[in-house]
Amino acid sequence: MDCLFCKIRDGQIPSKQVYEDEQVLAFHDIQPAAPVHILIIPKKHIASMKDAGEEDWALIGSVHKAAQQIARDFGIEESGYRLINNCGPDSGQVVFHIHYHLLGGTNLGPLVA
Ligand code: IMP
Repeated sequence: MDCLFCKIRDGQIPSKQVYEDEQVLAFHDIQPAAPVHILIIPKKHIASMKDAGEEDWALIGSVHKAAQQIARDFGIEESGYRLINNCGPDSGQVVFHIHYHLLGGTNLGPLVA
């Protein structure tokens, strides 16, 4: 399977990793859109949120839990942050392995301009 984030998970493509546990990995986005821009992925390959099954919801919860921890680690827990999942063509999803963008470190303004 030709998946960029699976390759990052497997160490075939380098990344600036900031968090790892048994089920979740997080690393810096290569084109940061904010002072803090971290991508958080489940290690399991699931292409998109629409493809998550009943058995995956605990895993998605673990991704959210990791996001809370990472925000704490980056000192943006109190100032605030945005957690975004793009799903499908209208969202602009380009990498088809579920990931959440954790954005913060500045006032992000309105979600849609
Ligand atoms: P999407 O639009 O939600 O699919 O976001 C994909 C994200 O992956 C974009 O913000 C890209 O900048 C990011 N990205 C693409 N390639 C790499 C990489 O090799 N390392 C880290 N981030 C990447």
